[in-house]
Amino acid sequence: MNIVLLGPPGSGKGTQANILIRQRSMVQLSTGDMLREARRSGTEVGVKVAAIMDAGELVTDEIVIELIGERIGGKKGGGFIFDGFPRTLAQADSLEELLRQAGMKLDAAVEMEVGLKELQDRITGRVSCGQCGAVYHKVSSPPKVEGVCDNCGARELHQRDDDTIEVLNTRLLEYYRKTAPLVGYYHHAGLLRRVDCVGGPEEVANSVAKALDG
Ligand code: AMP
Repeated sequence: MNIVLLGPPGSGKGTQANILIRQRSMVQLSTGDMLREARRSGTEVGVKVAAIMDAGELVTDEIVIELIGERIGGKKGGGFIFDGFPRTLAQADSLEELLRQAGMKLDAAVEMEVGLKELQDRITGRVSCGQCGAVYHKVSSPPKVEGVCDNCGARELHQRDDDTIEVLNTRLLEYYRKTAPLVGYYHHAGLLRRVDCVGGPEEVANSVAKALDG
């Protein structure tokens, strides 16, 4: 099964992707993670996108479509989870075409619904491990030992540069202007599944599972 996770920043796409990887052996393709990796490695793409990402704006369709295109091969594991991609109508069209060329199709687009106040709380409290990428929340799910990753033991927990209230406002504006139209796009295609994402990760995972299997 190939699915898109659609939702504003802080709606829990990465967290739910991690649960789906564990439960269904799916493969996560996160353009945000790919772009952050490109920045860390100092590639040409990484240098090009740095300022745009720090401002909370979307990078160009060409860049992310190429990144995704490089990774869609034949069927992998339990299928692909597209996390943070597509974010524009042009990207959605490209994804359909890339999957078609690979002999695959999209099975569902999960719209993750969360209220504004909750998004702000999640984003401003989020920290992640620079070593393995595990994600924590300073208040609702802190690591067992302060500053130390439960998963890999590294002492590299930090807040993302774009996880501030100011940048969040731009990211939300980009989401509602450019990405929210995809709700209509996937509804029209008969693929949209709406999920209320308030609650803990496991509770939301149950709702996601129901939406996918029900
Ligand atoms: P994310 O980790 O998904 O929140 O993405 C972080 C940032 O990477 C976004 O604010 C954008 O600047 C950029 N980005 C990630 N995915 C895309 C995409 N599909 N299209 C355009 N920009 C993206």
